[in-house]
Amino acid sequence: MTTPIALITGAGRGIGASIARRLRTDGFHVVIGDIDHATAGAIASELDGDASIFDVSDSAAVDAAVDAVVDAHGRLDVVVNNAGILETADDVIGRVAANMMAEPGTPPEPISVISTMTDEAWDRMLKVHLYGTFFVTRAALRHMEPARSGAIVNLASIYGLSGSAINSSYAVAKGGIVQLTRSVGAEVAPLGIRVNAVAPGFVDTDLLSRTPPPFIDAAVGTVPARRLGTADEVAEVVAFLASDRASVCNGEVWTLSGGWAGV
Ligand code: NAD
Repeated sequence: MTTPIALITGAGRGIGASIARRLRTDGFHVVIGDIDHATAGAIASELDGDASIFDVSDSAAVDAAVDAVVDAHGRLDVVVNNAGILETADDVIGRVAANMMAEPGTPPEPISVISTMTDEAWDRMLKVHLYGTFFVTRAALRHMEPARSGAIVNLASIYGLSGSAINSSYAVAKGGIVQLTRSVGAEVAPLGIRVNAVAPGFVDTDLLSRTPPPFIDAAVGTVPARRLGTADEVAEVVAFLASDRASVCNGEVWTLSGGWAGV
């Protein structure tokens, strides 16, 4: 039987690395896409896969990387658009913290997320998440459409559905991924290609490393399950959506939030 091929972006660590391990267990040959050479190489060698070093926000690099996977293996069965960043500015964190620690009844100071955001910071967030997901999806569909098969799973976020006062550019980018998933899912469903997304809540990875612990504690306090999710729990659902077991799923956005999404 031919070994199926999966490309996972941002798979050098965190949720992406867990997804790569899970798909390897499911019998895939995994291609570890990441901007970080060292981490991608380590996961690729652990899983007997390939490392593919590219920046998802560079459309020419994405085209070349996806074409290289198909040149090397003759097929591309699954793509997981997972690469991502979260860059909450220190001054925003400081203003939010000051409001959190203020005496009860004190009128809140403006946290000024949007009014202090630079063009560069806004562009970077949308480029990595929304453009990156579009670039990789476009390059993958050039191979999946003629094959009339394939599955794509996108990493959205609960913030892409709820919005976020502190991480608004992130929420906007993830909201775009939600609509990209629904739109492309509908477009390619007649071809037998499935495009779905997961929208996790708070997951215990390095992405949260710049978020001060009191913020994380406060966030966890709003989650009915009262804990962070794990990368392996997200990987489990991604692996399901990538598989034929999810044959009825197309253009779906699955929340994975410990109950937060229903609050
Ligand atoms: P992480 O920071 O642990 O890992 C992100 C990976 O993406 C890293 O290996 C990094 O090198 C890579 N990467 C970053 N920019 C890249 C680029 N331009 N091109 C290629 N690779 C790039 O983060 P994580 O928590 O594992 O997040 C994975 C995905 O899940 C992201 O899309 C994130 O937005 C989403 N997500 C995370 C959480 C959470 O709480 N951790 C919640 C919801 C959604």
